[in-house]
Formats: sequence, structure tokens, C-alpha cells
Amino acid sequence: MPTISKSRYVSGVQCEKKLYYDLYRKDLKPPISEQQEELFSSGNFIGQLAQKLYPNGKDATPESYFDFCPSFESTKEWINAGVETIYEAAFFYDDVMAALDILHHQNGERWAIEVKSSTDVKEYHITDASLQYWVMTNAGFKPDKFFLLHVNNEFVKNGSIDPKDFLTLKDITDRVIEKQDETIKNLIRLKNVVNNKETEPLVKISKHCTSPFICNYMHHCWKHIPENSVFSLPYARGKDWELYEKGILALSSIPDEVDLSHRQRLQVEGIKNGSSYVDKTAIKDFISSWTYPLYFFDFETVFPLIPVLDGTTPMQQVPFQYSLHIKPDYHSEMIHREFLTDSTSFQSGSTLNPRKALIEQLKADFGPTGRIVAYNASFEMDVLKKLAIAFPEDKEFLDGLVSRFVDLLIPFRKAWYYKPEMGNSASIKFVLPAIAPEFSYKDLEISNGGLASNTFLSMILNTFEGDEAATRLNLLAYCERDTLGMVVIWKHLMDL
Ligand code: SF4
Repeated sequence: MPTISKSRYVSGVQCEKKLYYDLYRKDLKPPISEQQEELFSSGNFIGQLAQKLYPNGKDATPESYFDFCPSFESTKEWINAGVETIYEAAFFYDDVMAALDILHHQNGERWAIEVKSSTDVKEYHITDASLQYWVMTNAGFKPDKFFLLHVNNEFVKNGSIDPKDFLTLKDITDRVIEKQDETIKNLIRLKNVVNNKETEPLVKISKHCTSPFICNYMHHCWKHIPENSVFSLPYARGKDWELYEKGILALSSIPDEVDLSHRQRLQVEGIKNGSSYVDKTAIKDFISSWTYPLYFFDFETVFPLIPVLDGTTPMQQVPFQYSLHIKPDYHSEMIHREFLTDSTSFQSGSTLNPRKALIEQLKADFGPTGRIVAYNASFEMDVLKKLAIAFPEDKEFLDGLVSRFVDLLIPFRKAWYYKPEMGNSASIKFVLPAIAPEFSYKDLEISNGGLASNTFLSMILNTFEGDEAATRLNLLAYCERDTLGMVVIWKHLMDL
């Protein structure tokens, strides 16, 4: 029988069919995405930092991940020989295995330590730690304490990263012990799946397909769900599953008498009849009071788990670029301003402070009055508020900018304007092509914020491969298109 490992256990707890597919339908497994690879590499770095907190351990990592037997033997031998710290300590009991990031002995206690690349403890961390506790205990090496070592979200970088400050140790022993009965029940259930290669578990799709993880097999199990399905209803709050259980899959099949919100009804009518909706009064009331000059503004940011810039925290949105289209009044020509910092200014030892340089440029580009228009403005406002905390001498200027924002997202989020092409989204990436089909990002090398952020981060980390000068132009072109897109939307609304 195949061994139940931690990852298989976690799969099986989410869904028995998922575990079955992991084991017996490898043909269904999609390739590893770039995003997953990035997660692995930041996970590796954090694992190395964790080992610095518990140095000089013996490493039980197996030479081949297909054969853990030597790791089980080494771990047993080293514990019995009194080795203080073991990395990748591996245990086996009753066809279930557990490999632990760090096994450490301190003050006569045995500590099990799992390292996590997250800034808090999630319920599924407790689930997998409970399995490890169960295996270790039954293998005769019960831990006295079980800890998660995760990223400290209050860490502020100042020079090189000290693992003592960057990582935080959380005692989860009681929670893990509480889950032992549940772990035993889960294992009975999952062993039954593992032992029945010929029988695929009968599991219907449900909310568990996306929680706690988006399942890799949705392309297979969800293939009967049509493109414009009940699951594309915005703010569904369970209505999607209610309809699905009644056999209603397509938006176009939802009967008129079903109680839907205004926004949901617009979407259904859009699919059924191709109809659009505009509340001109609400839109006019909203945008006609905006005072000129109007500043159409957009930041691009990096938000690495491992901070790269002094004074920033894990996952903090750190701006490296902005685009600004200024409309002095309705009839004037548009003025464009932009900023893109030098990636080397993010590197330690640089005499240039990229955030300070950005603030100075903001001061040069913004006049003292007029509304600042952003799409989903809370993002830009939050970035500016963080800058105001980091640079108190500029707080008054930055707070002044924050107080002038208006949000171009509102007419779409509040469903004052709807076109079927927007589907279930009020995001600019859907609204813009619905309003101006000729205005696209397709001709751009960099065509979305995620790619812009990852590209610039790779320049900071010196992992970028390619023509940096040309790529900087691509970054500028992308950000400019974003603010130009806002101008197009605003004009469209003004002309209604
Ligand atoms: S898509 Fe849903 S039902 Fe299918 S394997 Fe994944 S979790 Fe299970």
C-alpha cells in the first residue's frame, strides 16, 4: 500500500477524491505553476533561516524522495545517540510517514518544529502538525512540545535579516493534542481510499473544492459547469450552491422568480438578453462634483514575503513606479507624468532611498488642489499612508494627497453601470474592454500588475534575465496604459 505522507494526508482531509487522484490519476495533475515555484523558493530561503536559529543540526534529508528508509534509520539512530538537532527528521508508523523540518532537544524536552512561509497560523497547519505528532508519538518519539516557526508580520527590515527577529515561534502543542482523535478517524478513512485503487471515491463538487486550497483537479471535476454558470454570480453568499443543488447550472437558466440582488439580476439579464444598465443620475451626481485638475493615478508595487528594503515589513506593498495623467480641465490636453525607480536603489548599501525619491517626485508632479482619481483607490491610499508613517517629515504632504482621492471603481461596484462583457467583475481589466473594446493591453510586453511586480522584483533580486533597459520601457508603457484606461472610463461616464 502507498505510504500516507503529510501532503497526501492534507489532500485527503480536503477531499478523498483528491487524494485518490494524487495517487492513481497522475495523468490529471496539471504542471507546477510559476507561482508555486516562487513559493517553493521563498520557502527554501525561510527554511535555511530557520536552520540558523537551530544551528549545527544533522541533516536527515533523503538522497531520493522515493526512498525515505535511510532517513527513518538515521533519525532513530541520531535521537538515540543524543543528537541535539536534526533537520528533516523522518518518522514512520503503520504505513504513515512524517518528515519534520527541525527536531530539537532543549532543557530535557523534545521539540518538533515545523517552518511555515506564512505570517500567521492557519487551521490546515494544525491539521498537518497533528498528523506529524501522531506518527512521532506512535513511532516512540513523542514530542514534548510542538511549534510552528513562521514569519513575524511585525518584523521591520534593518540591514541583513536576523532569523531571531524575522521568525516567530508559536506553541501549538495543545491544539495538536486536541486533534488526535480526529487524526485517527481521518487516517482510517484515508487508508480505505489508498487501499482501493480500483474504486474512485464518489465525491460531489462542493465548497471544499476551493477551501483551504484551490484544488488542482477542478478542470476535471467541474467540467460539467458551463462558462456563465451560477458560480459566477457576484457576492453569491451561498445562493450559487443553492441553485446548483436544484439542478440550475447556467445563469441563463435561473428562473425570474429567484430572489437576486440588483447586481446579480443585471448579470443574469445581461446573459439572457444582452442588456446593459446605466443609472445616469447616480453617475452624474458622483463624478460631476470632482474638482479640476484631475489626477489619474496608479502605483505599481512589490510585496515580497522577505522584505528587500530597509524600513519595510513582510508582504508590505512597496511602490516602485507610478503613472499620472493630469487633466487641468475638461477641455485641456492631457499631461502625462511618470516615475520608475532604479532597481539598484532597493539593494542594501544603496545611497539612494527609492521611497524618498518617489515622494520627491510626487511633490513635483502634484499641484495643491484637485481630485486624485484611482481605480480601487484604497490601495493607493494605503500605500501613501504607509509612506507617511515611514517619512514623518512628509506626512502633511502625503496625508493631503490621501484626503483628495475619489474612486472610479464605485459606479461599477455599486452597479450604476453594467454591460454583459463585464461578467461578474468590476475590475478595470473587465470594465475597460467592455466600455472601449479598442483599448487593450494586448500589444504590451507587460500586460498585468502581477507580471510588472514580479519583473521588477527579479531586477531587485538580480535574478532578472533579459534586456533591463527595454523592460523598464515596457514597465512604463504598462503603467501609463492603466492611467490612460482610467481617463477613457472617466470620459465615457462624463459623456453619458
Ligand atoms: S475538484 Fe473538488 S471534488 Fe474534485 S478532487 Fe478536487 S476537491 Fe475533490
